[in-house]
Amino acid sequence: MGGRLIVISGPSGVGKGTVVSELLNRDKELVLSISVTTRSPRPGEVDGKDYYFVDYSTFKKMVATDRLLEWAYVHGSYYGTPKDFVMQHLEQGRKVILEIDMQGAMQVRRRFPDAILIFLLPPSLDELKHRLMKRGTEEMDEQQLRLLRSLQELDYLREYHFFVVNVEVNQAVENIMKILSLVDFVVTEDRARTMVESLRKGGIFDEAGDIRRAGEN
Ligand code: 5GP
Repeated sequence: MGGRLIVISGPSGVGKGTVVSELLNRDKELVLSISVTTRSPRPGEVDGKDYYFVDYSTFKKMVATDRLLEWAYVHGSYYGTPKDFVMQHLEQGRKVILEIDMQGAMQVRRRFPDAILIFLLPPSLDELKHRLMKRGTEEMDEQQLRLLRSLQELDYLREYHFFVVNVEVNQAVENIMKILSLVDFVVTEDRARTMVESLRKGGIFDEAGDIRRAGEN
């Protein structure tokens, strides 16, 4: 059925990074889009691996030249998804993972009605707070800002297709893999219309819903 965008969001401290990297370890077919950000690298973060760390004027230029698929201002920094990388891999039929915030997820949903949105939930807000504090990489003020935003993010749950509670990493990864194994069969309204239209015109599909022979026009 061609490539598919998989968005994974969730509040800061929920463990998105760990879950996503374990997911990539287990399923070599998945590709992760590496975002561009204006925030400074945290200790241990590598440019080109965790993020592309850029200055504000570079970021602004990328927006102006339409090189970002989506972008957002999160916790005082800009973040965006480089468009070329994603489009190339979608064209190759790959599932591309975007680990982005809810504002970005909404932009992706509008531009790609076929995208699958997964939200990672903490087992409890106390646990979220605990994990965030334990990370301890940020100043107190920024932590508080993040926590506040995390809670706001929870209001947007209804926009997501699937929810996974991250009690334990391996279990969360397994649950996401179950979702991904079904993704080819999850059709959005747009896709359903296209499929039915194609059938009407005499198109023939295979089991996965790929068009084996296009119909007459
Ligand atoms: P962090 O600075 O902790 O790595 O990420 C902060 C937030 O920015 C997280 O919620 C993360 O999902 C989000 N984020 C990371 N990259 C992108 C991106 O390319 N676009 C958007 N919209 N959000 C992003």
